Amino acid sequence: MPLVSMRQLLDEAAKGGYGVGAFNVNDMEQIQAIMIAAKQTKSPVIVQASRGARAFAEDLYLFRLIEAAAELNPDIPIAMHQDHGNGFETCKSAIALGYTSVMMDGSLKEDGKTPSSFEENVEVTRRVVDYAHERGVTVEGEIGVLGGVEDGHGAGGSGLDHITDPDQAVEFAERTGVDALAIAIGTSHGAYKFNKKPDGSVLKMDVLIKIHKMLPKTHLVMHGSSSVPKDLQDIVNQYGGKLNPTWGVPVEEIQLGIRNGVRKINVDTDNRLAITGAIRKVFAEHPEKFDPRDYMKPAREAMAKVVAQRMTEFGQAGHAGDYKPIAIEEIAKGYASGALDPRPSLAGAR
Ligand SMILES: [Zn+2]
Repeated sequence: MPLVSMRQLLDEAAKGGYGVGAFNVNDMEQIQAIMIAAKQTKSPVIVQASRGARAFAEDLYLFRLIEAAAELNPDIPIAMHQDHGNGFETCKSAIALGYTSVMMDGSLKEDGKTPSSFEENVEVTRRVVDYAHERGVTVEGEIGVLGGVEDGHGAGGSGLDHITDPDQAVEFAERTGVDALAIAIGTSHGAYKFNKKPDGSVLKMDVLIKIHKMLPKTHLVMHGSSSVPKDLQDIVNQYGGKLNPTWGVPVEEIQLGIRNGVRKINVDTDNRLAITGAIRKVFAEHPEKFDPRDYMKPAREAMAKVVAQRMTEFGQAGHAGDYKPIAIEEIAKGYASGALDPRPSLAGAR
């Protein structure tokens, strides 16, 4: 199956009332882990690569691995997404490779660190939307600023520093024409999101619900949404790791989000923890081993297990065969004719 438009994947998720996990990849084993889980649970998937991942793996290696995943799994719809594009050129280069979706994170300036102005964000995102939609490629924008730093990207600080303003979210969606919108509701990138189980004072699900009421047709995206479960932290620490106690986003909060317009949920940290825990366990229990397959195989299995669990919890499990993928060229025509124009003012027309 060729790679699928993320827009189609999210439109289908909205119809079915479920969410789709977007899992980050850097190497072959992570891609395989996602595909093992997708096959097992019959899930459509979003695979995403950050700028850091593209640099680590080299663009061509990474993209050819995704193509292999698509060829080997003809029954699984796969969207390939650029995570946190920092400018027009990054998005353009992902589209040139064949990514079917890009995130233009204009909430930060091109350095990926400094919060930008609303007008700057609108301008660069609109430019990416024009370019991407002409080619049938989906665009995710971000309004408000996430906390923390990951892969060198992020403003740092607490997730509460720049919570999304619902009125601005509406104006942003209208002026940019993004297909999906990442909002800041208190989550952060990385493992250290909350220092206790988050409640409404730090995780603003009420803001998310308000935005969904104002933008019922816009696909919302939750970033920094690993759950950072204690059992995964414990395995890492049991075998010599030194993680400080930390809390992520509870799955039940993500499920509340899914009932309120969240269609894409970004998960990376949980998979990193699963991989590291599995490798540490082999190193601790079998210090005589030195064949990388002896620890990469359990690492891959551990990640596949977490991914399969999330796919089930997000509701995407069982939906891989619900629809036939629309060719990207047809999606481009849909944008050109206005049939797929995602602007909220046109939502009634769809
Ligand atoms: Zn993110």
